[in-house]
Amino acid sequence: MISEKMKTLVSGSSAIRAMFEEGQRLAGIYGKENVYDFSLGNPSVPAPAMVKEAAIEILNNEDSLMVHGYMSNSGFEDVRLAIAKSLNSRFGTDYNEKNILMTVGAAGGLNAAFKAILVPGDEVITFAPFFGEYRNYVDNFGGTLVAVAPNLETFQPDIEGLRNAVTPKTKAVIINTPNNPTGVVYSEDTIKAIAQVLNEKQTEYGIDICLISDEPYRELAYDGVEVPWLPDYYDNTIVGYSFSKSLSLPGERIGYLVIGNKMKDFDEVVSGLSVAIRILGYVNAPSLMQRVVMHCLEEKSDVAAYDRNREKLYSELLKLGFECIKPQGAFYLFVKSPIADEKAFCNDAKKYNLLLVPGSSFGCPGYIRLAYCVSYDTIVNSIPAFTKLAADYGLGK
Ligand code: PLP
Repeated sequence: MISEKMKTLVSGSSAIRAMFEEGQRLAGIYGKENVYDFSLGNPSVPAPAMVKEAAIEILNNEDSLMVHGYMSNSGFEDVRLAIAKSLNSRFGTDYNEKNILMTVGAAGGLNAAFKAILVPGDEVITFAPFFGEYRNYVDNFGGTLVAVAPNLETFQPDIEGLRNAVTPKTKAVIINTPNNPTGVVYSEDTIKAIAQVLNEKQTEYGIDICLISDEPYRELAYDGVEVPWLPDYYDNTIVGYSFSKSLSLPGERIGYLVIGNKMKDFDEVVSGLSVAIRILGYVNAPSLMQRVVMHCLEEKSDVAAYDRNREKLYSELLKLGFECIKPQGAFYLFVKSPIADEKAFCNDAKKYNLLLVPGSSFGCPGYIRLAYCVSYDTIVNSIPAFTKLAADYGLGK
């Protein structure tokens, strides 16, 4: 019944999910506390109390026909205005409700953006390592994802690689900072350099290139690192935001897109995105959650808990002889595999009930990703398992 294309997608379906399911299986055999599942980016700290309080308040006191009804495809106007004002106070911008479109998480927002801008044959550039779903999101609209090879020293985007990758078919560049899977925050210099290349190439080829900044981890930055606000650097920018990680609400599917005021054909882009949200079948972002997040815009989940995990796991792995760049954001460590075949390494790790994700899922073989959004106890208890794994590979000698 399903299409050949879908059969291919099913058979290549996410290694991350497969690993998560393996975790459930191992937990059934050895007990949950004896399985060290670093596979999935599912937040490990609860949503701020305000989320529940706001939901109760809304359900008790707001008009239920409004709370549960259809609204503009872009979302409730008061919610969008509140988000615009919050962004204005943080980034000195001048946004109103027109700049904001509520989406079904970051994933829904990115799909709406690609729906609005791509025609079959268009190319979308990204930088390896990258969130593997980008390939599917771009392919949904007949586009092709072009990955620029990673800079393995810094994991900052390779600017010359970008320059060489842009062609007259380039429609968009998608970046993700703080980055999944490396935890790297793209520096201001990197962002400026990306903007410069895109501006040059727009002129050279007489095309419009959209920069899509996927920012579900914006609030998860450590050591006071600043995450640059992309629309300040490049006019044709769309920011995709999500509350999945910042408020620990991934199952609720709520986020938004921001269209900067200097976007070319601003009104047309906003209308296109709004129609995309409708005709992709989302119709609008979940209504109750839109109203809830309006009350939680200044809330944050417990970033300090992730920071504690980050410091502990990073320092322990380094002591054991693993190589890894220190993440500045998100909740992932991207560790160099001691052998080139990182999938084999991940399989070996399962012997010690360690679940890790191969870097090839992110277009960067030879590395593995650990999601440290787990309890601190899991981190501490996993160290003997990592110690045995490191010994098997002769690390730290
Ligand atoms: N983009 C990146 C880089 C992610 O890591 C994720 C989820 O892990 C998403 C997008 C999708 O987020 P959402 O749950 O908001 O759809």
